[in-house]
Amino acid sequence: MAMNSFEWVDATTVEQAAGLLAESTEQRPVIAKAGGIDLLDLMKEGILAPMRLVNLKTIRGLDEVDTENGLSLGALVTLDRIDNDPQVRARYLALSDAAGHAATPQVRNAATIGGNLLQRPRCWYFRHDHFHGEGADEMGSRGADENQHHAIFDNDKNAMVHASTPATALVAYDASAELAGGANGSRVVKLS
Ligand SMILES: Cc1cc2nc3c(=O)[nH]c(=O)nc-3n(C[C@H](O)[C@H](O)[C@H](O)COP(=O)(O)OP(=O)(O)OC[C@H]3O[C@@H](n4cnc5c(N)ncnc54)[C@H](O)[C@@H]3O)c2cc1C
Repeated sequence: MAMNSFEWVDATTVEQAAGLLAESTEQRPVIAKAGGIDLLDLMKEGILAPMRLVNLKTIRGLDEVDTENGLSLGALVTLDRIDNDPQVRARYLALSDAAGHAATPQVRNAATIGGNLLQRPRCWYFRHDHFHGEGADEMGSRGADENQHHAIFDNDKNAMVHASTPATALVAYDASAELAGGANGSRVVKLS
């Protein structure tokens, strides 16, 4: 497999990270990295080939859990923390349980809630390098047998099964996400 060299930037603020990510183009992709679980899988499959990675883990304060008014989770809070934080467990049991049942202990230690919500489809076609390169037809029979995670490409809606386990609990709790960057600055959107 060919190796792709890329630049690495340790971001120190959300604004800096958003500015760097805004420079991304199709030819020179700039991609955020949190725990790296999904990102590295996609890079190893050759589905993503960043020109530059922006490491978010060096931004201070994004790993905080605040239970003062409702619940506020920084984007870098890990699934393990959501599972084991006593306040979250006492007051948002469905969320704690969902985070604690996702993946494996090793993955939960590294996986962040931001990256979890933004992970790509688990669709066999999307994940398999055969789909993206020569030999795409070979996937046909396997895809017909196991189709519960399939995504539909090239349509104007995002037609896929969302892979995140915590997302279901967050939507049930009517959670919102604060998004940074973009032309109009930061904004809050309902997770649903
Ligand atoms: C064996 C295995 C089993 C799994 N089982 C489950 C399961 O049962 N349930 C489940 O929910 N998940 C499961 N997963 C998926 C796993 O939980 C996710 O891959 C992980 O949560 C991603 O988080 P991360 O911090 O590593 O994200 P990364 O891999 O770092 O990032 C994922 C994506 O989000 C983007 N991103 C990350 N953070 C931000 C941010 N703050 N702002 C903007 N963009 C961002 C990245 O650019 C990338 O595109 C499994 C994974 C494995 C390997």
